[in-house]
Amino acid sequence: MSLSYDLHSHSTVSDGTLSPADLVVRAASQGVDVLAITDHDEVSGCAEAARQASDLGTIRLLAGVEISVSWGKQTIHVVGLNVDPDHQQLFTGLQRLQQFRQWRGEEIGRKLEQAGIRDAYEGALAQCKGELLTRTHYGRFLHQSGVVDSMQSAFKKYLLRGKPGYVAGQWASMEEAVGWIVAAGGVAVVAHPARYGMTRTKLRTLLREFVEYGGDGLEVVSSSHNSNEIHTMSQHALDLGLAASRGSDFHDPEYRWVELGRLPELPKKCEPIWERFEINQPYSQEIQRDY
Ligand code: AMP
Ligand code: MN
Ligand code: MN
Ligand code: MN
Repeated sequence: MSLSYDLHSHSTVSDGTLSPADLVVRAASQGVDVLAITDHDEVSGCAEAARQASDLGTIRLLAGVEISVSWGKQTIHVVGLNVDPDHQQLFTGLQRLQQFRQWRGEEIGRKLEQAGIRDAYEGALAQCKGELLTRTHYGRFLHQSGVVDSMQSAFKKYLLRGKPGYVAGQWASMEEAVGWIVAAGGVAVVAHPARYGMTRTKLRTLLREFVEYGGDGLEVVSSSHNSNEIHTMSQHALDLGLAASRGSDFHDPEYRWVELGRLPELPKKCEPIWERFEINQPYSQEIQRDY
């Protein structure tokens, strides 16, 4: 029987709502055999998640990260899988992004204040409970305080580019992000490629650059992709020699339309990304099954 892989998920260490340990418990109960925890610009949940996976003994945990990248005017997400979360170069790189996030978080608060929304920074901080501050936390604050009636409209009205609370990012370059991941022993994957709204030509340019810097994979199967997009992305992966990844991008059990492990299989023609790495030692346990 083939294993169920979910290689993209978030915990309270960034904008997810489950602790790293609870994320692993939920993944195991959903039948996931191999889970990657991939918080935004942060690896500090990996140790707790690995301990929980080891205690359960029925699921493997890959240490991962989702790095924010500025590519031209766009923000791209690059997932690193099977990284050493204690690697110095990765750690230092992420620290810079975390510092930028802190400044950006305050700036978003100032901009929302100018737009007439008071104490949004304090509200978002209360949402993230001292962990990494993201736009999702602002979205939750705007929703829960009744400024908007859904997370979607929080983004649409306030947080997307061109809206009052948007602050442009100065994230990692593509070369840096891939470099940090590879230095930390991991493989780099372009996350949810269909979500960037790029033309085919532009996406090809991005992917060629990504391959040049040492990128390995494309997230062909994602909960934000429909079946046409899965098909298109699998073709891009094949054409460019990229392996394919599969990840739910799970954030929150309240989002009922996204569940850990509940995703289509990789198209048969794809090379699975997990065939390109040996799972790092500290996080590898033999999967125990009693059947
Ligand atoms: P940040 O990295 O702080 O810019 O926050 C980006 C996060 O916001 C993404 O990882 C998503 O979890 C969330 N997000 C982005 N766009 C939307 C949207 N339209 N609706 C809900 N959540 C969104
Ligand atoms: Mn997120
Ligand atoms: Mn993302
Ligand atoms: Mn994500």
